[in-house]
Amino acid sequence: MQRTADSNTSLRIAIQKSGRLTDKTIDLLKGIGLRFDDYKRNLLVKCRNFDVELLLIRDDDIPEYVQDGVCDLGFVGANETQEKGADVTVLRGLDYGVCRLSLAARKDGDIQSVNDFEGKTIATSYPKLTRDFFEEKDINTDVVTISGAVEIAPRLEVADAICDIVSTGNTLKANGLQELVTILESETELIQTNKKLSPGKKKLIDKFLQRMDGHQQAERSRYIMMNAPQDSVQKIKEIIPSLKSPTVMPLADNGMVAIHTVIPIDEFWVVMERLKAEGASGIVILPIESMIL
Ligand code: ATP
Ligand code: ZN
Repeated sequence: MQRTADSNTSLRIAIQKSGRLTDKTIDLLKGIGLRFDDYKRNLLVKCRNFDVELLLIRDDDIPEYVQDGVCDLGFVGANETQEKGADVTVLRGLDYGVCRLSLAARKDGDIQSVNDFEGKTIATSYPKLTRDFFEEKDINTDVVTISGAVEIAPRLEVADAICDIVSTGNTLKANGLQELVTILESETELIQTNKKLSPGKKKLIDKFLQRMDGHQQAERSRYIMMNAPQDSVQKIKEIIPSLKSPTVMPLADNGMVAIHTVIPIDEFWVVMERLKAEGASGIVILPIESMIL
């Protein structure tokens, strides 16, 4: 499966073929202007307008494909990369596929805290992370690897407890389990191979990252336009947590100005309320496609 970095100048990116991460990853790639032909039917898909090809595989396989240099980059959950102990570089953390790997046991059972795990059997699809956790705590457990429906293991008496991915906790509850300890907080990450890359590929990765960062920054920001009395400008400038100094333009109405700027979305409501209080009116908020700072 090895290939030399120079054998092909296009970047090969591994993404999950079909699952929770697929649509969000494809949306992100489309959001940075990459266009693909039918990615649902092919395993290897060439991008039409960027030197990139996508390899669509199971998420479990992504860390190793990137580690081995079969793919240069990969979009995959930290849970998979860490379970595989893959030798890769994490370039970016992305805010989707957010979940945690937690230990859980029967709600009314005799395991109520970490120390109660001594001598117990734990079913999981994450044997490495589970063993590492208990080894570090010097607690002896028997870890049983199972690949699906981990949450029913205690009921089947295959195990005393489980270590599994949780996002809402509803699956655990539905199976009479309680979450006891989180051993890993996870999100999707963009990982890069540690194999040597050609200068051409390095440049492509820089370009790819610049587009991704611009897109993410844009998603977290809004373009805001408003009218305000000239003598409120100083106060308004202080309220706006702007990336740059705002654009202030005189209006035909005497003593009024138009102010245009960019604000972080998290501060949107607080900023709006304070702007109104300073006499701003006709406030218009627009989404931003991308931004290069
Ligand atoms: P594949 O066939 O690719 O192996 P899968 O069944 O292992 O798919 P999915 O259920 O699609 O995987 O989950 C993919 C990733 O999404 C997980 O590895 C994890 O990083 C993340 N994730 C986020 N929330 C959850 C959740 N509630 N359950 C499972 N995975 C989650
Ligand atoms: Zn998987």
